[in-house]
Amino acid sequence: MTSPTQTTHPTESYEEVKTRLSEACHQAGRSAGAVELVAVSKQQPWGRIVPVLQARHRLFGENRVQEAQTRWTPEVREQYPDLKLHLLGSLQSNKAEAAVTLFDVIESLDRPKLARALAVAMANLGKRPKVYVQVNTGEEPQKGGVLPTDLPDLLKLARDELGLPVVGLMCIPPADEPPVPHFVFLRQLAARHGLTRLSMGMSADFEWAAKVGATSVRVGSGVFGPRT
Ligand SMILES: *Cc1c(COP(=O)(O)O)cnc(C)c1O
Repeated sequence: MTSPTQTTHPTESYEEVKTRLSEACHQAGRSAGAVELVAVSKQQPWGRIVPVLQARHRLFGENRVQEAQTRWTPEVREQYPDLKLHLLGSLQSNKAEAAVTLFDVIESLDRPKLARALAVAMANLGKRPKVYVQVNTGEEPQKGGVLPTDLPDLLKLARDELGLPVVGLMCIPPADEPPVPHFVFLRQLAARHGLTRLSMGMSADFEWAAKVGATSVRVGSGVFGPRT
């Protein structure tokens, strides 16, 4: 028996997402490699991740430090030395050191305290994962991300004063609004501050994000199926 939610093998849905992404790039006159696919493996069983690794995908996203630690163990990373991990979720300052240890990119810097904790962790560990500032473009009270009006001050602190390797901006548009205006807004904010990387677009809207300038999209259920 096949359950209706698992009729597609992860490799097929992975290949389909890759195809849709390169078609979106093509339609927008961008090269197929212009947008990285971050496969969001949070809350997915290992059995769905292995086929994607076997398809030679190496870029994954997680939203919890602890879950990521148990999944992407030193043994797994030794087996796949070119693996790259992005942290997408909100990060507590007291987990900054664990995050800097494990992740290659941290996409969720959103407040001064965390910027300071990341700077200390990077100095202690001698490792400098790239950082994105998450912007709460919809100004939703429950959501992580710095408010657009507070972005200049946070960038000043993180980049100029602490010297963090800030490369771009990330956003998660409100679920009940059309995402494209948020993507365009994020792109404008990045341009204003001389940042070149834009992490935007998820399963439901990654093609739109690719068309309006994303440099990476974060696709979970579209690649692996619904989360367990
Ligand atoms: C879970 C998550 C995603 C992936 O969501 P899907 O809708 O499954 O593609 C992308 N970005 C962030 C920040 C997430 O937490």
